Amino acid sequence: MKLEFMKRIFLIYNKMKCDCGKTEWISLPKTPFYTKKDTKSGCICKLTKCPNYKICKVRNPSCLLIGKGGVCLECNLVFNQRFVKDTNITKCLVCKKDKHLYQLPICEHKLCRKCIQNIFYCDYGNPKDYPEYIEFPYKPIGKYGEKGYYNPEDDYEANPYDEKWINDEQIQIFEEWKNVYNEHVDSVYRPANGKKCPFCRKKI
Ligand SMILES: [Zn+2]
Ligand SMILES: [Zn+2]
Ligand SMILES: [Zn+2]
Ligand SMILES: [Zn+2]
Repeated sequence: MKLEFMKRIFLIYNKMKCDCGKTEWISLPKTPFYTKKDTKSGCICKLTKCPNYKICKVRNPSCLLIGKGGVCLECNLVFNQRFVKDTNITKCLVCKKDKHLYQLPICEHKLCRKCIQNIFYCDYGNPKDYPEYIEFPYKPIGKYGEKGYYNPEDDYEANPYDEKWINDEQIQIFEEWKNVYNEHVDSVYRPANGKKCPFCRKKI
């Protein structure tokens, strides 16, 4: 039951219709980024910057900025709050540089943007550098949750060596894209360093 629920949530967030209805936003696997499914659809909509964009560097479809404070998927996993920036410049006690500091939502301490990124946020690189998205070549049949529903992608993931996939050219193209994509993610990804305040050790 729980797995089904998780899957439904994933399906909702994985793909969503653009507000103009001309195309869909597709999540780039393993990242908080989204891309347009069809770049030639005539849709001119843009992704919306998270209110913490300076720190998280994430733009999401506007309907996703719904958590506490309307922050992005990545911020949702970290503090789930908007950061408040100091108006004056102070020395950041981690990097020793004079910067505008941000209040940590978990304690009374403050850090600069770069130090918050390094400590609390994973780095996924620049979404513009990602290889262009290729969808799984076969579409589901029927309606999700209803009798007779068949999703070729699930079938493929469960039995990738089944005869029907082995000599399929579309699948080979998709697999090649997946390799290139995964290599790219691995080359740019940097995990968060800690998740604790460096001064009081309070965890998020
Ligand atoms: Zn649109
Ligand atoms: Zn964010
Ligand atoms: Zn700093
Ligand atoms: Zn602290």
